[in-house]
Amino acid sequence: MTGLLAVGDAWATTNTTFGLGLSMGLTQAALLRDTIDTGDIADPAKLSVAFAEALESTVVPFYQALRDWDTHRFAETDAVLRGERYETEDPAWHLIKALDTAKPSHPDLLSAIADVGSMLEPAAQVLTRPGLIDLIMTLGSDTADSPDHGRFRRELLTAIS
Ligand SMILES: Cc1cc2nc3c(=O)[nH]c(=O)nc-3n(C[C@H](O)[C@H](O)[C@H](O)COP(=O)(O)OP(=O)(O)OC[C@H]3O[C@@H](n4cnc5c(N)ncnc54)[C@H](O)[C@@H]3O)c2cc1C
Repeated sequence: MTGLLAVGDAWATTNTTFGLGLSMGLTQAALLRDTIDTGDIADPAKLSVAFAEALESTVVPFYQALRDWDTHRFAETDAVLRGERYETEDPAWHLIKALDTAKPSHPDLLSAIADVGSMLEPAAQVLTRPGLIDLIMTLGSDTADSPDHGRFRRELLTAIS
């Protein structure tokens, strides 16, 4: 749609677990300001395309990473509820799981997570840091199976009844 440029949750919502919504919205607001400053405000179509391009190279990689995480996590949750282990061929998910296990073990991993979580660098760029993937896979190789959530559900149902 031309003549209407969305920012914040009007553009896209993200999983609140990651606390990135405000950073996304403020980044988009700054991009919108710059696009209007430098773009052709008399041509809504050009302005829309310029804003979309600006988003594509800045906010979209963060949004896409969170969407991918959601897709895997929902699938994993469904698998756990069926009593199964979630299997996927996607190497990115295995890396994320390994990072989750390894993150308290090394300051480089914590700072990598903080940089992504603060929207300073997208994950794909952070992972190009020399030795980082090896570090994640070494320290996070002992990725635990998903915990037995069923036990807690049973306890909850017992408490309710
Ligand atoms: C439970 C929860 C926890 C979150 N935790 C975090 C966090 O820890 N860190 C973080 O960064 N982000 C977090 N977020 C996300 C963050 O709150 C949103 O990304 C952010 O508020 C989006 O800002 P916004 O201005 O785009 O939209 P909103 O904050 O939703 O603002 C939209 C405003 O428009 C108003 N409005 C709607 N329709 C109309 C209308 N027709 N006329 C006039 N006004 C209207 C609404 O009332 C609202 O005030 C969380 C979100 C939720 C739901």
